[in-house]
Amino acid sequence: MSVNKLVLNSESLNNVLENKEIHRDDIIQIYQNSIKDPNELFSVAQNLRKKFKNNSVTFSKKAFFNLVNLCKDSCSYCTYKAEPGEKKISLMSKNHVYQLLDLAKKYRCVEILFVTGEQPEQKYQEARDWLKTNGFRSTAEYLVHASEMALEKGLFPHTNAGNLEISDMKELQKTNVSMGLMLESISDRLTERGMPHYLAASKRPKARIRILENAGRLKIPMTTGILVGIGETPEEVIDSIFAIKKLHQKYGNIQEIILQNFQPKTDTRMNDFPSANENYFKIIVALSRIIMPEMNIQIPPNLSPRSYQSFLSVGINDWGGISPLTPDYVNPEFAWPAINKVEENSKNAGFDLKCRFPVYPEFFSFISKQLRNKISLIQDEERLVKEDYWK
Ligand code: SF4
Repeated sequence: MSVNKLVLNSESLNNVLENKEIHRDDIIQIYQNSIKDPNELFSVAQNLRKKFKNNSVTFSKKAFFNLVNLCKDSCSYCTYKAEPGEKKISLMSKNHVYQLLDLAKKYRCVEILFVTGEQPEQKYQEARDWLKTNGFRSTAEYLVHASEMALEKGLFPHTNAGNLEISDMKELQKTNVSMGLMLESISDRLTERGMPHYLAASKRPKARIRILENAGRLKIPMTTGILVGIGETPEEVIDSIFAIKKLHQKYGNIQEIILQNFQPKTDTRMNDFPSANENYFKIIVALSRIIMPEMNIQIPPNLSPRSYQSFLSVGINDWGGISPLTPDYVNPEFAWPAINKVEENSKNAGFDLKCRFPVYPEFFSFISKQLRNKISLIQDEERLVKEDYWK
């Protein structure tokens, strides 16, 4: 590494520690320098994490409701989506939702994650029939109803159902304390022929940004994030993080960023694509902390089963949703670790595990008084979930 580059690296990183804005070109330079030696970057990310997030790491105790996994799009890496007739198809009835909510309550879950494929009724007769049988005209209408059912039981819905219409988001906002939509990538190149989002119109960056902008206008606390290792260039992944930062600067409603490392799945077009390199992934995590020092940054522990605790030293402060009850239907081959194991591993790395609501405390002011009142029944003095509720 040349002396000039080293100086730029240190100068830029020091600027971050002094709360000065850091620019894209500096980040790209830091990325290039860190490929050879990431230690300085990791140490700055760790310092920022300590400064803004203290010595705790959070998670959300959840149940994953795979409401309907038919999807009008096709991403090259996806095994979540089912086709009619496949064994893994999920078309949850109201009764099934009701029963699983009961179980979630027994397991002392806090979050109900409602997930669907992208507007399934637009493509599949099976989806239209399923909606009709349950008494709904659209998946969004069902989501509104299912969210009401969850809330009535004292469970907190968080819906991740792809590119929803603004009118549907407005309805869901009444019951959902937060919502989720991964940006995945700001790169148009990934939508070209042969690339992972070629057959997924909903993943076009413009379409995703439009939905995230709508969420911003509605002041919905939003979880978003990126996929790392799906064929993007380092510059594209950096641009994706900056795109999220820009949204947050404009609307102030991005509550967390998920950094999800790609893991290849059999039966997909990307089955022989390598999983995301761990050093590359860690550099991206640390850069995210530097680009957005105060942001909540999450990695899913099940996707780095042998090393997730080591990410605590490169800038993350959250493990996302972990379910003691249901599989991760998006990555079913990667079981979530047991919550007490996550607690033990976090402790060994010097961090206390705490359970949060699907809305982070900093965003309580975004949600209605009715929702806040429900939360207050089980919240502690840090506005996290009372330990005797979730343990
Ligand atoms: S990743 Fe989402 S949008 Fe893409 S095929 Fe799977 S379910 Fe559909």
